[in-house]
Amino acid sequence: MNKKVIAIDGPAGAGKSTVSKMVAAKLGYVYIDTGAMYRAVACKVLREHKNVTDENIISIAKDIEVDLTYEDGLTKVFVDGDEVTNEIRMPLVSHVVPKVAKVGFVREKLTELQRKMASRGGVIMDGRDIATHVLPNADVKIYLTASIEERARRRCDELKAKGYETDFDSIAKEIAFRDKQDMERDLAPLIKADDATLIDSSDMTIDEVVEKILKMCTD
Ligand code: C5P
Repeated sequence: MNKKVIAIDGPAGAGKSTVSKMVAAKLGYVYIDTGAMYRAVACKVLREHKNVTDENIISIAKDIEVDLTYEDGLTKVFVDGDEVTNEIRMPLVSHVVPKVAKVGFVREKLTELQRKMASRGGVIMDGRDIATHVLPNADVKIYLTASIEERARRRCDELKAKGYETDFDSIAKEIAFRDKQDMERDLAPLIKADDATLIDSSDMTIDEVVEKILKMCTD
């Protein structure tokens, strides 16, 4: 089978990364988590500045080096050679990342890197603008979503399993807040590409979603 390029977009907590990792494992593809790249930039901004202003974001993005490695199903994220795989998942990073992601300079720099990463094929890339902007010629395009209640419930379960206290309402609010910013920004907003297949996973298991995507890859 030809090595394909698969693009998966969708709102926060829709299960894109879980599903992408499983599809990548089945096909022997590389998984590229573009959200982790925006989070990496946000991380460095927070480390070095008190205020998350456009000016500070651009000054950080000018000479940041973001690297992703993907081995044995695990993504590791590096900023200027330092591993930030866990730090990028902190709630403060999630809160400010849309502010970083709406800056044109950041988007141009990361988009170029993402296109380079996908150039050899055999990749599944997830994010917000992959099918619409980063890889408009992808072989398979998916827009994966689920109801806000379902996404918040899954996020709560994930956090509980890691031993954290959770509050459904505040998690649902945070997800909705992030989606609104990602959907309403001027540059490469989150939107379903006309030629993407919509998968609403609210009433589907992860395995069902993976099966559906694998079928689309072999059709
Ligand atoms: O996928 P994840 O939830 O980790 O993405 C974090 C944030 O990064 C998103 O909320 C969005 O602001 C930004 N992002 C983006 N474009 C992408 C991937 C992520 O703007 N392709």
